[in-house]
Amino acid sequence: MTLSTLRQQLTSGETTPAAILHRLAGEISARDSQTGAYLSYNLEAALAEAANADLSLPLGGIPIAIKDNINVLGQPCTCGSKFLENFISPYDATVIRKLRAAGAIPFGRMNQDEFAMGSSTENSALQITRNPHDPTRIPGGSSGGSAAAVADLTAIASLGSDTGGSIRQPASHCGVVGLKPSYGRVSRYGLVAFASSLDQIGPLTQTVEDAARVLQAIAGGDPLDSTCLDAPVPDYLSGLNDGVKGLKLGIPKEYFGEGIDPGVRKNVEAAIQALAAQGAEIVPISLPHTEHAVATYYVIAPAEASSNLSRFDGIRYGRRAENPSDILDLYQKSREQGFGPEVKRRIILGTYVLSSGYYDAYYSRAQKVRTLIRRDFESAFTQVDAILSPVAPSPARKLGGSSGDPLHEYLSDIFTLAANLAGIPGISIPCGTTDFDGSKNLPVGLQILAPHLGEAQLLRIAKAAEIKS
Ligand code: GLN
Repeated sequence: MTLSTLRQQLTSGETTPAAILHRLAGEISARDSQTGAYLSYNLEAALAEAANADLSLPLGGIPIAIKDNINVLGQPCTCGSKFLENFISPYDATVIRKLRAAGAIPFGRMNQDEFAMGSSTENSALQITRNPHDPTRIPGGSSGGSAAAVADLTAIASLGSDTGGSIRQPASHCGVVGLKPSYGRVSRYGLVAFASSLDQIGPLTQTVEDAARVLQAIAGGDPLDSTCLDAPVPDYLSGLNDGVKGLKLGIPKEYFGEGIDPGVRKNVEAAIQALAAQGAEIVPISLPHTEHAVATYYVIAPAEASSNLSRFDGIRYGRRAENPSDILDLYQKSREQGFGPEVKRRIILGTYVLSSGYYDAYYSRAQKVRTLIRRDFESAFTQVDAILSPVAPSPARKLGGSSGDPLHEYLSDIFTLAANLAGIPGISIPCGTTDFDGSKNLPVGLQILAPHLGEAQLLRIAKAAEIKS
């Protein structure tokens, strides 16, 4: 059942928040031992909140599942890492405070790649998450648990975080809606930082309307996050059904080149045709610096990560190594034992590109290319209202099927990274299914990108493109 339908049932008295929570707990025990989307959940705490739920509020009585890198007071916040395996949050993130103010109940901690580094959720140090459409496959990542639970109907909606695609790509692989808001649209206070100039929190939902409802609740300025904009939050629901007639939608030629699975291409092209049939004008465009997005991101994101993750020193948070010989040994052992291989790789990469002698060659050059990528979009948006593309080059791959070459994994982020580098909003919506690599009916996602703070228009186009399955 969608969030919007449940809302109606709650206000008409057909169901109660407690009944919804009990039903979800039943679905979780029935299916989640297979899917592995939930790291933990606390039914008693949620029921206590449900007892006081104000059903007149926009999300009154609706449980929302939370990625395990967003702090909820009194609940675990592991970030999918052994480092924080036993960490309990001492406060609510701003998005959680806002969800509560809108009447929602945070319920469930969702698996993820460790510290959000990855695209498969296989980098979680805690458990495997499977794709509900095919349990032999990855759910995508890093917000794999948040996407898989919504697809598996063990969650009504969830929050994820997106630094280079971590909301949109798992949404695409699991056949749900995933929205990465503009940089600065949603507060990051209480999100465990990965790469602070790229990170955004956003919703994963069954429908575009549900995504609009959750965004409405979490968007807006926050004195606790200086990067969060105080710009007015428009009404994301009022124009949702206005359609695409007369809108110009850009098709970047760089996003439809070699290396795209034919099934992905076919579905995305069909979705574009469907929008054209509704009166949108399809305009070929170019984003000439696209080919540099992966290299740029994989300098900037690890650089910021190496700095952000220096706070995990074995003293202030989480794991502390036993019997250190001195303080340096304590830092080293705690980090060696607490972090998994991908996190270590990013810290080493990031430290390298920031070190004196290499800073100008890598970090500072990456920042310049980032500007060129942002200008690509600025110039494209003088010609078109939004941009359409695939989310990922292929449907979900097999679990354990990574080539073992990190570069190969990084390349699969090619279509999602640029939006984070440019700070613009992006959404993934289901656009049919395809047969792939011996499996039938795997979901494919359509990505829509809009200008900075253009979420209302983005959602309106997404709504027009939404396929009812
Ligand atoms: N896959 C990308 C990475 O590994 C993006 C992750 C994210 O958006 N958190 O960095």
